[in-house]
Amino acid sequence: MPELPEVDTERGRLAARMVGRRIASAAIDDPRLTRPEEPAWIAARLAGERVEAVERRGKYLVVRLEGGQVLLVHLRMTGGFRYEPASHERAVLELDDGTRIAYRDLRRFGTWLLLDPEEAEAHLAIRLGPEPLGRRFTAAFLAERLRGRRAPIKAAILDQRTVAGLGNIYADESLWHARIHPLRAAGELSAEEVAQLRDGIRRALRLGIRRQGADLGDGAYAGGRMQHEFRVYGRTGEPCDRCGTPIEKTRAGGRGTCYCPTCQPAVGAGQSPTPTQRRTV
Ligand SMILES: [Zn+2]
Repeated sequence: MPELPEVDTERGRLAARMVGRRIASAAIDDPRLTRPEEPAWIAARLAGERVEAVERRGKYLVVRLEGGQVLLVHLRMTGGFRYEPASHERAVLELDDGTRIAYRDLRRFGTWLLLDPEEAEAHLAIRLGPEPLGRRFTAAFLAERLRGRRAPIKAAILDQRTVAGLGNIYADESLWHARIHPLRAAGELSAEEVAQLRDGIRRALRLGIRRQGADLGDGAYAGGRMQHEFRVYGRTGEPCDRCGTPIEKTRAGGRGTCYCPTCQPAVGAGQSPTPTQRRTV
């Protein structure tokens, strides 16, 4: 499931091919992709448009067209772009230089929305907090979002309005960097821990971007190398890179969650365990 680093990698590959080019033809075969709009209607509006920019916001790709419209693409579980014929193609764009861009999506949860710029901004603004690698994502912002929340911190940071673009993999990696147990109550972190978490999130995401995301072997994000550098995700039973303790797996917010029980203690400094935490110690 693509997260910020995988979507950013897709953005770079798309931008290199699309920016400045005209969409010569568009074919969309899947009504689920464009609903509630008809795929043929969206395809007709894309054809002939020149692409001005391909940006990313959270896990969305934002394709800006010369005519003023914005195509918002969300890859969800298995969506992705291919530059050679692929299985499970749902849409194909042909550019004026002959480049063929296929959108494939095995599980068909991805979405393409064609919106006016103001609609696109509003759509994103109500769903997403600030970009975690941008200047607005401060420890003060994060502390404000977590204040008073009793949910596990892992669940809290998966909320896209708190950390836009974070998903299950990079949430686990971020918490390891920050040395915070995934089941700690979000509102109980100290100011120092929130600052560590903010830095841990940025560190995990930056590394993911540099490694061009993670290729988890399903062929969806081929070329990514982040899977070789996970600290906790998918490493249950393997020794922690920092202290050698075997990585453990639990559930947080309904998601499988990997952590180091030594580096990420269930109780913060100076706190006594709550009944919930005591059970997990
Ligand atoms: Zn450790």
